Amino acid sequence: MSKIAMTTPIVEMDGDEMTRILWKLIKENLIEPFVDLKTEYYDLGLKHRDETDDQVTVDSANATLKYGVAVKCATITPNADRVKEYNLKKMYKSPNGTIRAILDGTVFRTPIMVKGIEPCVRNWEKPITLARHAYGDVYKNVEIRVPSEGKAELLFTGKDGQEIRQTIYEFEGPGVLQGMHNKDKSIDSFAHSCFEYALDMKMDLWFATKDTISKVYDAKFREVFDKVFENEYKEKFEKAGITYFYTLIDDAVARVMKSKGGFIWACKNYDGDVMSDMVSSAFGSLAMMTSVLVSPSGVYEYEAAHGTVQRHYYKYLKGETTSTNPVATIFAWTGALRKRGELDSNKELSLFADKLEKATLSTIESGKMTGDLALITSLENVTKLNTEEFILAIRENLEK
Ligand code: NAP
Ligand code: MG
Repeated sequence: MSKIAMTTPIVEMDGDEMTRILWKLIKENLIEPFVDLKTEYYDLGLKHRDETDDQVTVDSANATLKYGVAVKCATITPNADRVKEYNLKKMYKSPNGTIRAILDGTVFRTPIMVKGIEPCVRNWEKPITLARHAYGDVYKNVEIRVPSEGKAELLFTGKDGQEIRQTIYEFEGPGVLQGMHNKDKSIDSFAHSCFEYALDMKMDLWFATKDTISKVYDAKFREVFDKVFENEYKEKFEKAGITYFYTLIDDAVARVMKSKGGFIWACKNYDGDVMSDMVSSAFGSLAMMTSVLVSPSGVYEYEAAHGTVQRHYYKYLKGETTSTNPVATIFAWTGALRKRGELDSNKELSLFADKLEKATLSTIESGKMTGDLALITSLENVTKLNTEEFILAIRENLEK
């Protein structure tokens, strides 16, 4: 059997711990036997990040801008324990944060749906993709504990010395204060990423804020989305047969619960933080959640939504059997291969991505799965496989 050829490389970002083990197994068993895989490899494993003073992370992000498609393995974000464990020169920032800052993108998280793992919400028939704005608001706030009676003011001083001042509140006793900000540029990028991704997925886009209460701040978000849509995407959406829908956040929440799914839900930073955990847990498992970072210029970086599964890795190191779910990591690869196929008009490559996804899902549907899914499945007579057995079962299916 001849292998599928590739013209442009995918940027490959290797990572840490158990997901690094999965990475190798997936490549060797599910991709390389079928595809003449072309990647530009960057080792984002913590040891190599330390050796390069984290330059490798920056380089991998710049390569993604150059080639347009990347696939990333989960990586450790170092904390004090990790600095000791890996004897690091310093406590490096989160690679995802570094990459996101360079690509200026938005993260879209989508649950992988499969028969036998049913969402808690009965009427959700299709996945709901959550897009979270990842800049500003309460995550970059400034807070003051007000000690006593006094006046709180909001003051902006322009570079030209212009002052805009408003009284926030005349405190009659102690209280609390919070200052938040966002930037037109960041909101604009967020809007572009959302519209681009909706077109790419051919899915409706929902967006919601609380602009009835926040008549300047949230209203700006709505205004930017409306303007970008009117000026750049309205016709493209009509052609693609999809819609952009704006509503209030409380109305959106109510509608999401009653919906059938199958749309993209764009959320402000805090709403996205809260709602993504609700949506992902209701769909089943973090190990069945993919994640893609989309830049406003249409550059794509695919990964799993979960971390490096540290606990399983320590078992693996001790020689114990693990049953780690590779599905989200497989789908990161298929996402990247399919996108590469689309960009290069390489139908065979995109078709292979579809087939690998099908083989993965049908393996689960046939009752063969990893331990995390065996615990929550509605299927009967399931076989719990270990990490490697499960990947080999998928391979057997794929070969068929
Ligand atoms: P984690 O890797 O998400 O795993 C937490 C727990 O969730 C696991 O112990 C396991 O539960 C379950 N789980 C997650 N993925 C699974 C899978 N594929 N198959 C089976 N079970 C799975 O979080 P963590 O272990 O707390 O974090 C480890 C490292 O990941 C941290 O250093 C963190 O910085 C990093 N991280 C990276 C990313 C990223 O690169 N995108 C995202 C998040 C975290 P049981 O132990 O109960 O089986
Ligand atoms: Mg959260």
